Formats: sequence, C-alpha cells, structure tokens
Amino acid sequence: MSDILSLSLEDKLYRTKYEPDAAHPHIRVNSDYCVKCGDKPCLFFCPAQVYKPNPNDANLVTVSHENCLECGTCRYGCPFQAIDWQNPDGGMGVKYRYG
Ligand code: SF4
Ligand code: SF4
Repeated sequence: MSDILSLSLEDKLYRTKYEPDAAHPHIRVNSDYCVKCGDKPCLFFCPAQVYKPNPNDANLVTVSHENCLECGTCRYGCPFQAIDWQNPDGGMGVKYRYG
C-alpha cells in the first residue's frame, strides 16, 4: 500500500465510497448568514472541501453534500450556526472502504 502521507487529498477521498441522497441532502445552509460571514471558516474546516467559494457570488458558498465524510464538524464550525447537518438516511452517505 502506498504511503498515505504522500497521497493528495483527491487520492485520499477516492478511497471512500458514497451513496449520495440527491433527493434529501443532509446538509442545508441558510445563505442569509453567509452573506454576513466574512471569514467563511467552512472553506477551511471541512476536510473534504464540501464548501467552496461560489463562483457566481463571492458572498456565498457552494455545498457538495455528496462528498461529506460525516465528521460532524459542521455542527460546531459555523460561527452563525447556519448549517443544518443531519445524519444521512440509513444506507446513504459515506461508506469507508478501509476500516
Ligand atoms: S461558515 Fe457558516 S455562515 Fe459562514 S459561509 Fe460557511 S456556512 Fe455560511
Ligand atoms: S460533516 Fe465534516 S466532512 Fe461533512 S461537510 Fe461537515 S465538515 Fe465536511
């Protein structure tokens, strides 16, 4: 097995498998707060880079819920508690291939 420390984030994320629930996203963001959020810490605290700058509006972020690793940081990291994060429905979400 290759040295885990030498892998890129993309390579590491490839080691997981996902069952995204497109009809019922388990992450919802109240963007009214994002407009007021200068530092946008979600762009940094998420290990899977689920949150990215919105290319169409610098005041907002995009949310790729299908890439969520379910670490739970969303529940604590947003200074405005603008993120409604729920566990995905049974059988959906991330499935770790190793471990
Ligand atoms: S940290 Fe919260 S309020 Fe700030 S941009 Fe991210 S989701 Fe929006
Ligand atoms: S729970 Fe963790 S992996 Fe999922 S979006 Fe929040 S910070 Fe990212």
